[in-house]
Amino acid sequence: MGLFTNNKKPCPICGEGTPRLLATEITGDVPICSDCSFKISIGTVKVRDFSLEDLKKHLAMREENANRIKNEFRPNKSYEIGWTQLNIDETNKLFTIPLNMCGDTTNPPIFKFEELVGYDLEEEQCVIERFNRGDSAPLCTPMMYTPISQFVFDAKANQQRISRSFKLNLYLTNPCWDKVVSSAGSASGSQGGFQSEYSERLEELRIVTMAIVSIIGMNSTEVNDVHGNADIVAGDLRKFKELLDAGIITQEEFAAKKKQLLEI
Ligand SMILES: [Zn+2]
Repeated sequence: MGLFTNNKKPCPICGEGTPRLLATEITGDVPICSDCSFKISIGTVKVRDFSLEDLKKHLAMREENANRIKNEFRPNKSYEIGWTQLNIDETNKLFTIPLNMCGDTTNPPIFKFEELVGYDLEEEQCVIERFNRGDSAPLCTPMMYTPISQFVFDAKANQQRISRSFKLNLYLTNPCWDKVVSSAGSASGSQGGFQSEYSERLEELRIVTMAIVSIIGMNSTEVNDVHGNADIVAGDLRKFKELLDAGIITQEEFAAKKKQLLEI
């Protein structure tokens, strides 16, 4: 309104004034109003590449998405990922991740299970675990789940704090989204506090990634029957991970076993 609104450049969608500063623009430098901009949800394509027709189609699709959120989407599982959640409707094979997707968090884009093709998990910008459709188990890089003993604490500086942050990237084949990046929490504190927080965070993330693997797995069209060495190692790793998850072996024992299997 007033000073910051440009009424001479009305929004081509609704006719409202557009922001004078930093307006969202579609192709041809045409500004659109804040309300219309708020409804957009795209990651893969750029708003600047939208023609007016593209934008109209997109907004109609967003409207339909809102109706589906209200009438069709019935999540039966929900997992915390940092500030957001992964909400899963197993009956309809759909999921949403409300934050990071658009301004309007009440209308997160609904994805089909078959649109999810992989994920990777990062710890301090390094990929520590990844899984793609067709893989028999998550691939863990050598630094996956850094054993706590590897964190060096300075005994003299007993107030020393350490922190690790996690990020989860989901890869999709949706026309508007090919990647969804979510901050996936962090662990920080001085030695004892950090260690328990770090283990807790990993435990939570493991539950989330297992849910993601099962979403992707539910749509594997073919069973991977290649018996290469990598598959055997992956199978063994998975068995030990199950033992770890069941609390039969410790994190340290798992890390040692993994090191042995991967010959690192
Ligand atoms: Zn508008």
